[in-house]
Amino acid sequence: MMYTPASRAPLPWKLLAVAFIFIGITAISVAITFGAIAVQSAVRSYVTGEGQWSKAQHDAGFMLYRYGQTGDPAYRRRFAEALAVPLHDRAAREELQKPSFDRAVATRHLLASGHHPDDIASLIFLFRCCSDVPQMRRVVALWEQGDVQIDRLRQLGDELQAAMEVSWPSAIVVNDLLHRIEEVHEAVHPLEQAFSEELGEAARRISRRLKYATATLILLLVGLGAYLSLRIIRSIRGSEEQYRALMHGAGDGLVVVDRASDRILAINQCVERMIGRPASELVGVPYASLFRDAEAVPAGGSDAGAPHLRSLNQATGEPIDVEVKFSLARWNHREARLAIVRDVRRRLRTERMLRVATNAMANTSEGVVITDGRFRVISVNSAFTTITGFSEAEVIDRILGSTGVRSADRRTLRQVAKALRRDGRWQGEVQNLRKNGESYPMRLSLAGIPEADGTIAHYVGIFSDNSAFRDYENRLKHLANHDLLTALPNRAAFEEAVGSAIRRCKANGGRLALLFVDLDGFKTVNDTYGHAAGDELLRTLGQRIRRCLRAGDAVARVGGDEFNVLLDDVGSEKDAARVARALLATIGEPVDVDGQSIALSASIGISFYPQDASEVDELVTHADMAMYEAKSRGRNNFQVFSRQISLAMSTRLSLVTGLRHAIEQDQLELHYQPHCDLVSGRILGFEALLRWNHPELGAVPPCHFVPLAEEIGVIDAISDWVLRTACRQGVQWRRQGIDDIALAVNLSPRNFWDPELPRRVARVLQETGWAPQRLCLEITEGTIMGEDGADESLRRLGELGLKLAIDDFGIGYSSLGSLRRFPVDVLKIDRTFTSGIPGNGDNLALVRTIIALARGMGLTVIAEGIETLEQHEALLAEGCLQGQGYLYGRPMPAAQAEALLLAARVRPLAALT
Ligand code: C2E
Ligand code: MG
Ligand code: MG
Repeated sequence: MMYTPASRAPLPWKLLAVAFIFIGITAISVAITFGAIAVQSAVRSYVTGEGQWSKAQHDAGFMLYRYGQTGDPAYRRRFAEALAVPLHDRAAREELQKPSFDRAVATRHLLASGHHPDDIASLIFLFRCCSDVPQMRRVVALWEQGDVQIDRLRQLGDELQAAMEVSWPSAIVVNDLLHRIEEVHEAVHPLEQAFSEELGEAARRISRRLKYATATLILLLVGLGAYLSLRIIRSIRGSEEQYRALMHGAGDGLVVVDRASDRILAINQCVERMIGRPASELVGVPYASLFRDAEAVPAGGSDAGAPHLRSLNQATGEPIDVEVKFSLARWNHREARLAIVRDVRRRLRTERMLRVATNAMANTSEGVVITDGRFRVISVNSAFTTITGFSEAEVIDRILGSTGVRSADRRTLRQVAKALRRDGRWQGEVQNLRKNGESYPMRLSLAGIPEADGTIAHYVGIFSDNSAFRDYENRLKHLANHDLLTALPNRAAFEEAVGSAIRRCKANGGRLALLFVDLDGFKTVNDTYGHAAGDELLRTLGQRIRRCLRAGDAVARVGGDEFNVLLDDVGSEKDAARVARALLATIGEPVDVDGQSIALSASIGISFYPQDASEVDELVTHADMAMYEAKSRGRNNFQVFSRQISLAMSTRLSLVTGLRHAIEQDQLELHYQPHCDLVSGRILGFEALLRWNHPELGAVPPCHFVPLAEEIGVIDAISDWVLRTACRQGVQWRRQGIDDIALAVNLSPRNFWDPELPRRVARVLQETGWAPQRLCLEITEGTIMGEDGADESLRRLGELGLKLAIDDFGIGYSSLGSLRRFPVDVLKIDRTFTSGIPGNGDNLALVRTIIALARGMGLTVIAEGIETLEQHEALLAEGCLQGQGYLYGRPMPAAQAEALLLAARVRPLAALT
């Protein structure tokens, strides 16, 4: 690992600037000081120069005077030498006054004028730089005024020398010369005086200024120094604070480790919190001891490089997963390693979750697609490829939906994008295309993934191929709307079709006919040939019905053996009747099932929209009512709904409703009709006949409600009530001393075929105490004739010791021979035959045959419905010994029957006397 010592931090630029200003001012101060010294020195040089100039000027005057006195050329030479000093001064000044002067020339003249070489620079500086100073200007002006006197002196010398060359000067000339030299001196003297004063003043002034400047600069320096110190102190303090802030405010743990000893030099508060121990306990301990996997931390640690995971020991003993990254640093002039210790528990957890999520995404059977905020695909899973056929490379960077979406669904996609931007999520189904062009329904759920600031930068879409579900749904729909057996529409689908036809007719006008087709006696087919044959028959008849209809018509199987047909836009009732006839004809044709030829008929009810009903239910109900009417009219026919049918049906409905509560509401009553010995007129017994006193309809005859009671399943309860009431009445009469009568009670076919009947009858006999030999149960001819097992049922009843009668005998045209099979005691000749005699020869012949046959078989014959004496006598003449009819007594309430009984004891059969 390369060792790179931490570089020193550069000074802040403000501090640097101030430092530079400080240095600058110090330099200026020094320069000014030097300048002041130089100026002083220059002033001194000028003063010295002025002295020399003055002395030279005096010397020149004196030497000239002596030359004039003595004529000694040495004085003339010394005069010239003395005069050279001011002349060189003058030459130097004139050179310096030039805008661009020659320093060498000026220096040479100044040296020649007797100035010290050290003063030359300051002389030139002062002359050149301070020429604008007023005093300096005046000094130079005074200096220039002195030039005139020097010129006069030189002129005097020249004049004297010229005079000397001619002749020895007279005393007068010498005196004149002296006098003129004196004049020069006197003229120069004030100039010298003024020059010295001005120069002194200039020097003082310059000195003052320099003093002020120096003082100002020193003050500035002091101020700046103080400012600089403050800045440096603040900077140091700031650094200290920054250090603390960085060290302790860091979100990560910081551990400074001595590189040589591997011991901890410092830690921040974050490490204290992580470990749960104060810095005082940790500083100085080996760095490796912080970690659970101490041996995994190499001696000397690693200096820098990639972060590595460690297990940090907490004071509680619990480890913390941390990530450590080293860098090198200097710490108090020592080489150190700075370990950044980061608590990565949450990150590791997140990474784990991410791994799990990634695995889940990769392995889920649902397609997953992740897009950026502009729906550009950035990732898909393998199920995506499985479902769509597109590989990841083919869709990456493409806009979601740019491949595999039918153009019709692009609009949906745009709406999806809109909804996503608005609500952040969308769920639904789109029709999609696989890579191979196959279309499939895609169940898609899209959601935006919000960033920390709430903006949506990604969307995730999860989808599945919804084909299986749709197929299943379609199958379910088909099942929901179709009959499994015949594959025809079912009731729900039919009603839907009728509903839409009605809506259409309401809008556009038109007439509909609904045909309610019910197969007659279908139950017998099932019972006789089995359910498979019944199913086959239904399938065949369903197809036949369908073939009878037009394309726009509808047919449905709405019940076991019920079909509904809708004739759309039917012209008139006649058209519907024609179809009904065709249906009856096609249904009536024999069907070949398993080699058996089965022929059925049907009853059809027809209702019309709009005259019979305006709604579906009503239309169906009315057709149903009409179908019942067809049934009651002997089946194998069709009936058109009418108000009368409706009325009959509603009466029936009211009967059905009332019948369920007739017993508990005490609306049932028994009337008793006597049957008599036709010879003696004695009352042999009573037939109990049921009456229903309906609160609204009044007395309802049994022929109206007994079949209904059978239909709705309350006949057993009613029959039990009848049997129990009749037996109780008989017992009561017996208690009153009337103990020689028999009671007859009617059974409905359903009662008869109930295997529990013997037990029920026995229970009633036992409960009431009525003697079985005085009870006769009447069963109609139609109930037992031609029915297998009827003889067995009769036998079981007969075992109770009671009598059995075949009621209404004769109307079923049973073969009289078949009577032999049945263990019965009594034959009751139906009143249709009685009413015809003696006039109706056929009836009389039949009655005669029945009586003869019954006698032959040892059966008692009772003729029903005897209303007239003629009938009575005719029957008596034919050998019928017992009878029943209005002639002897109508069915009457129990009290009346009792009164009749008591009266008959006195005078039997009053009607016959
Ligand atoms: P059924 O058993 O043949 O009863 C005789 C019917 O003939 C009675 O009618 C009676 O009133 C009527 N009748 C008797 N004599 C004459 C007559 O001289 N002239 C005329 N025109 N009619 C006469 P009802 O009471 O209306 O009973 C009708 C049928 O109802 C009964 O015929 C019977 O089959 C059935 N029924 C009556 N009560 C019961 C009952 O408790 N249970 C069951 N299952 N059926 C009953
Ligand atoms: Mg009867
Ligand atoms: Mg009868």
